[in-house]
Amino acid sequence: MTLEINSSLANVLPSVQEFLRNDKQLFIDGQWVDAAAGETFVTYDPATGQPLTSVARAGAEDVDRAVASGRRAFDGEWSLWTPAMRQRLLFRIGEAIYEHAEELAQLEALDNGKSAGVAQAVDMVWTAELFEYYAGWATKIEGRTVPVSVPWAPGASWHAYTTREPVGVCGAIIPWNFPLLMAAFKVPAALACGNVVVLKPAEQTPLTALRLAEIMADAGLPAGVFSVLTGFGDTGAAIAAHDDVDKVAFTGSTEVGKLIVDAAKGNLKKVSLELGGKSPQVVYADADLEAAIAGTASGFLFNHGQACTAGSRLLVEDRIFDEFTQGVAEVARNSKIGPGMDPTSDIGPLVSEEQLNRVTGYINQGLADGATALSGGRRHGEVGYYVEPTLLVDVEASFSVYREEIFGPVAVATPFNIDEGVQAAANDTPFGLAASVWSRDISKAHRTARAIKAGTVWINCHNAFDAALPFGGYKQSGWGRELGEGAIDSYTQTKAVNVLL
Ligand code: ADP
Repeated sequence: MTLEINSSLANVLPSVQEFLRNDKQLFIDGQWVDAAAGETFVTYDPATGQPLTSVARAGAEDVDRAVASGRRAFDGEWSLWTPAMRQRLLFRIGEAIYEHAEELAQLEALDNGKSAGVAQAVDMVWTAELFEYYAGWATKIEGRTVPVSVPWAPGASWHAYTTREPVGVCGAIIPWNFPLLMAAFKVPAALACGNVVVLKPAEQTPLTALRLAEIMADAGLPAGVFSVLTGFGDTGAAIAAHDDVDKVAFTGSTEVGKLIVDAAKGNLKKVSLELGGKSPQVVYADADLEAAIAGTASGFLFNHGQACTAGSRLLVEDRIFDEFTQGVAEVARNSKIGPGMDPTSDIGPLVSEEQLNRVTGYINQGLADGATALSGGRRHGEVGYYVEPTLLVDVEASFSVYREEIFGPVAVATPFNIDEGVQAAANDTPFGLAASVWSRDISKAHRTARAIKAGTVWINCHNAFDAALPFGGYKQSGWGRELGEGAIDSYTQTKAVNVLL
């Protein structure tokens, strides 16, 4: 399929135009190949609704091919690579991502709708850092010696130790909100530990994963160690159910996370899940209000609210509620809506028409239930999938806008009374991914952090991540931890060896 280069591509880098000119294939066993069934799909620019390029659609046979090539590499050449060799490879990939950051960011902006400037400064810099961070880990994955007794062998002498071994062939299934970054939450940690990876990017945003495969191949990646299968949910389901996949790492909706658990049962593969959220931002009256207004607004508007950690429930102490919510609404109203390729845009389009309908559906339901929009409340324009940044008040805890993950630039704000406390409201959710607390009282802020059931709590900031900090969810926000040392645990298994001396 040859597509007309769409007009919004006029100001993108020649390398991006070149990348988009050709139909995209699957990356299996170090080769670029068509899907076995010859199927393809089109990926679109959400700023215009125009097609970007055509992409191969992987089916079950392609999953078999990728898994088989991964198994060959895992049992063969890759198993002979020393930790230092893996370290050098991952470091080279990190360096190459820095070098190509602008190009990757433009590709991401076109495919996802996010700001190219933010994608370069945040997504790409952090992606490169994650490769470098786990490059460092490759040479530091250690076992222990264990002083054992073996009670029924008195007088015997033992030498016991543990080793950390890779899990094997890992499937990685990722969403569309931070396409390359979500790959980087999984791929470098898995490879650092000596695993191989079959990556399935989201159907809405397949492009940067394919460009990553090119970059990794150029950096010296052996065949089979990393495959990219572009496709839809059925491709992901085939990976999750595959009997020769040893682990599946998934980031996405809680609903699909539960399907992954079911699919993984056949061979009891290991499963790690990073799922949805409805993260509270707790604002006490003693907070630095100017900083808290800007920070909480960005906490729910960053990436147009398409973040699993979006601070979409503002719990605000009652005596500052009106002043505070007016301040946040003003920030929302002053945000400039426009395409990700325009450096002056604050809020870009949502990723797809489906997502536009979902988000506006939630807003309309909230308004019908009795909520008031202090800002926004509608779609913006008629071209592209834009939604006005929306702050809803007069919201009851039973409303769907309060309970469910919306994944758009929408937050609800509700007041709390200091004597009643905020703990019950903060934890009134099936999710437990993240939260933030805004206060100048250090003890109160730490006490609140302790009371909140969430995998990450930020104090006087929101969405402040680091490669070294473990990330994952309590409750229905997931299983296991990514980033930091937690990911090393999740991509290795421990072997105990006991020697009778
Ligand atoms: P979102 O709601 O953010 O689109 P999803 O959870 O639907 O997130 O999708 C996240 C990823 O999971 C995507 O790559 C998608 O193709 C994939 N996926 C969707 N359905 C399934 C499934 N049944 N099994 C495995 N992967 C799936």
